[in-house]
Parts: sequence; C-alpha cells; structure tokens
Amino acid sequence: MLFKLAWLLLCVLPLVALCAEDYYKLLGIEKNASDRELKKAYRTLSKKYHPDKNPGDESVNQKFVEIAEAYEALSEPETRKIYDQYGHEGLKQHKEGGHRQGGNPFDLFSRFFGGGGHFGQSGQRRGPNMEVRVAVPLRDFYNGAEHEIALEKQAICSSCEGSGSEDGKTDTCGKCKGHGMIIQKAQLAPGIFQQMQMQCDLCGGKGTTIQHKCKTCGGSRHVREVETFTVNIEKGMPKGARINYENEGDESPDYVAGDLIVQVVEKDPELGKGDEKHDRTDGTFFRRKGNDLFWREVLSLREAWLGDWTRNLTHLDGHTVQLSRKRGQVIQPNSVEVVKNEGMPIWRHEDGPEYGNLHVEYTVILPDQMDKNMEKDFWNTWDKWRRKSGVDLQKDAGRPAPAAAGSGHDEL
Ligand SMILES: [Zn+2]
Ligand SMILES: [Zn+2]
Repeated sequence: MLFKLAWLLLCVLPLVALCAEDYYKLLGIEKNASDRELKKAYRTLSKKYHPDKNPGDESVNQKFVEIAEAYEALSEPETRKIYDQYGHEGLKQHKEGGHRQGGNPFDLFSRFFGGGGHFGQSGQRRGPNMEVRVAVPLRDFYNGAEHEIALEKQAICSSCEGSGSEDGKTDTCGKCKGHGMIIQKAQLAPGIFQQMQMQCDLCGGKGTTIQHKCKTCGGSRHVREVETFTVNIEKGMPKGARINYENEGDESPDYVAGDLIVQVVEKDPELGKGDEKHDRTDGTFFRRKGNDLFWREVLSLREAWLGDWTRNLTHLDGHTVQLSRKRGQVIQPNSVEVVKNEGMPIWRHEDGPEYGNLHVEYTVILPDQMDKNMEKDFWNTWDKWRRKSGVDLQKDAGRPAPAAAGSGHDEL
C-alpha cells in the first residue's frame, strides 16, 4: 500500500511541476499563437507582474521572471521549435550547448516600454501621453460593445533592441568625447567673442555614435508601428469617458512610455447609410442626456385631440416601447411623457441593471390644406358647438377682462 502511494506520488509530482511552468499556459496563449499575440500577452502580463507594482511580493516577482523567460523562448523561432518538441529539458540542453542564455527580464521589459526596465520610480523620465478619440454610435453605449482600433505609434525598434546599432556596438563620440555638449566660440561683434555651450551636432547630444547603423530604424532606435487595441464600451458609459491604457503611448529607449488615453465620444446617427437593419431603429435617433433619453413623437391634430392611436418605437437593442392613447385622451402640443426605465442603463450599477427614463415630447401637426367641403363641414361643426362648450379661455387664463366684450376666444 505504502509502496503504491509512493509510486503514485512519484508519477504525479513531475507532471504537476511541468504543467505549472508551461510557457504557453503561463502567457495565456494557444500553441499556434502568432508573434503578435505573443507580444501582446507579454506586454499585458509583464506590466501586471512588474516588481515595481508589487513591491515585496516574492511570488509575483518570480512570475515576472518566468514571463520574461517564456517570452524569450517563444519569440525566437529556433528555441520555440525546440521547446515545442522537447519542452523545458530540451531548452536547458540547448542553453548548456552554449547558445543564448536567458537575458535580464528588466532588459526585455525596457525593450517594450523603455525607461531602463522600470516604471513608476520617482525622478524617472516619462514620455508624453497619447490621446485618441473614438466615435461610437449611441447603440453601443446602450448595449455595450467592443471595438478594435488600429493606431500608429512609435515603438522601440526590435531589430536592434533600441540600440540603433546593427551589431549592438556603440562608440564614444569623437567630437564631444561622450559629453554630448561642445563649446563653441561665437563672434558677437568684431573682436568680441562669446563662448557658448551647444549640443554636439555629430551625436545629437547622446555622446555616442554608431558605426553600423541598424538597417530597420536607420539608427533612430525606434520605428512607426501599427498596433491594435480593444476598446471596451461598457453599458451606460458616459459620453466622453476616458479609458486609460497604461504605458501604451509612444515608446522610446530614453523614457518610460506614457499612457494611451482613448476618449469615447458619441457618433451622430448616419442618415441614409444603415445597411444593417439594426442601424436604423428609432432608438438610433434618440438623444442622450446623462442617463435619460429623449425622443420627439409627431401626432396629427386628430390623434392629439381625440386619442385612439398607437406607436411602436424600436429601442436601441431592438425591443419595442409602445406609446398609445385611448379614445378621448387628449395630448397637448409640446407636452412631455416620461416613460420610466426606458432610458440608458446606469453605468456600473451594482445590483443588476437599472435604467434612466425616456422623455417623449409630442409635437402636433395641424393640416395646412383641406378639401373645401371638409373645411365647410368642420366650420359648421365648430359653429354649432362653440357656444355650447361653456369654457371661457379668457377667464381661465386669469387675465383682466378686455374693455370690449366678445373678443371671440373660445375653446373650439
Ligand atoms: Zn533598429
Ligand atoms: Zn558628440
């Protein structure tokens, strides 16, 4: 029995150890992940587990190192192949065979984010934030949506790993001797000279020169690159909301990348387009104010006055809001009906969804053309009933009686 248990333990233990270290699992990617997906995974995880963000947490720090290891192994086609075939053991042997040993995880980090591999430390230079605006339709604010955006930004050149040099070598600048500054004499007037300190023009103030410039970036150490970001529009998110992508701004070896800030604004409804049926619901033309929505409904004179009508509004997610009046229910022009809970979802509402209100403003259109006989009929009906109605608008309005009686105000 004891023997059996020991045997079981022996079998299980190495398996557990291997599983925990699987590079693909560690990075949360599939075995056939592309280079892009691999980079993206590294970017996300290395920021999350960076020791600067988790000071003193040994297990998190260990994870940061493992993530760098996993990325380095999988980013090289050769080592990735070895890993896929022979696993960790294969990589170990490959390394012992004198091949590229694992680099410093902070160096790797700085190849992605600049700033010498650290961020958040005081006194460290930080690059500018990058701001972009994304316009999304109101429907997406109502239903929630994910948008992929492609942005061109400055990235550290991966060919030379941000050194600018083809062979990785840099030399001390011969002109400024590495100071980056030179003293120059300028003649202010005949016989009067002034000494000025200026940035070295040969090395551009860096103090170093490169003999063999990197072919990819031409020695500038960075390239323009298109990167895609996923913008998550949450239900009920306010217009103009700013979503922060930490350290995803322009990169440079000289500073820690600033943040990318995506501002989400509301796109005007596009008339005439709308290939999708969904694009042209009534809701598309709602106006939004905070958590409330506004809509203008047009009624004919008959409807406003005599009632007996129904309207079906198609809301932003396709559900129907019914507006109606029974016969005899009057609607005054420009009056507003508040339909409870048919407004915007309230952003990040904790106990389940809750909604603002929908304000429906009624506009009444009077007919401007009438058949002659029709006009006659109406006139006679009016004439017949106006004296009997017994309503005095003048009195109802609370204004003093006019000097001359019979001004002709009546309800009909
Ligand atoms: Zn380069
Ligand atoms: Zn120089």
